[in-house]
Amino acid sequence: MEYVRRKDWGAIESGRKLSPFRVKPVGVVVHHTTGSATDPAERIKAHDKYHTHTLGWKSIGYNFLVGENGLVFEGRGWHQGAATKGWNWRTISVAYIGSGDEITEQGKEGFQKAVDLVTKRYGDVWVKCHRDFARTYCPAEKLSSWVKEGMPKPLDNPSSVNWVQIGNYIKDIGRQLAHKPLRKGSRGKYVVLLQQQLNARIATHLVCDGIFGRKTLKAVKKFQRNHPIMVDGIVGPITWRFLWTV
Ligand SMILES: [Zn+2]
Repeated sequence: MEYVRRKDWGAIESGRKLSPFRVKPVGVVVHHTTGSATDPAERIKAHDKYHTHTLGWKSIGYNFLVGENGLVFEGRGWHQGAATKGWNWRTISVAYIGSGDEITEQGKEGFQKAVDLVTKRYGDVWVKCHRDFARTYCPAEKLSSWVKEGMPKPLDNPSSVNWVQIGNYIKDIGRQLAHKPLRKGSRGKYVVLLQQQLNARIATHLVCDGIFGRKTLKAVKKFQRNHPIMVDGIVGPITWRFLWTV
């Protein structure tokens, strides 16, 4: 099961047609909300009722929702949402339905699953927070900083991690960079890795959004200046290797 469909959690069908996307969505916007019920599906139903009956919308506003149990629920799915003013026509909104400000490890896995679903359908997308687009505290601090760190997976049991596999993965990326180095304007998951590693190695505070912009360029040059590498701001196999050599 990829996600819990509307009919399976009991979404209200208003009978009004949802609008399809006219352009390919470019990003995921993370939201955070809560509810009094303990069962995530019940919380979602309460939101659905509020959006559809009280506010008179066509349906619950979010595209997808993630419960504390890690399940992904279909809201408007692959139709335009109503969650991020000005951006609904080209972003997918994913809301965490949690208790207070915390996010569970299962909830994080649910988010990764939701972003994977979007990537599978639309290709690489950025992931940002509602608060990047509006004056709001949504999502709450913990979820928000986790997203800004690039949604890292927990390493709570290092002995269970296959470090050899990780090493090979990093080396393999280095080989790919020989043909297609990362430079200003590059996007995607390798840029997220680069940003995370720069933050770890030279204590920069880059937002790990997978977009190689001006700040990432500055950080790459700073890193290159401290190593015997040409300072060109381009991440090819040599810069990549130094980034992972402590
Ligand atoms: Zn929000």
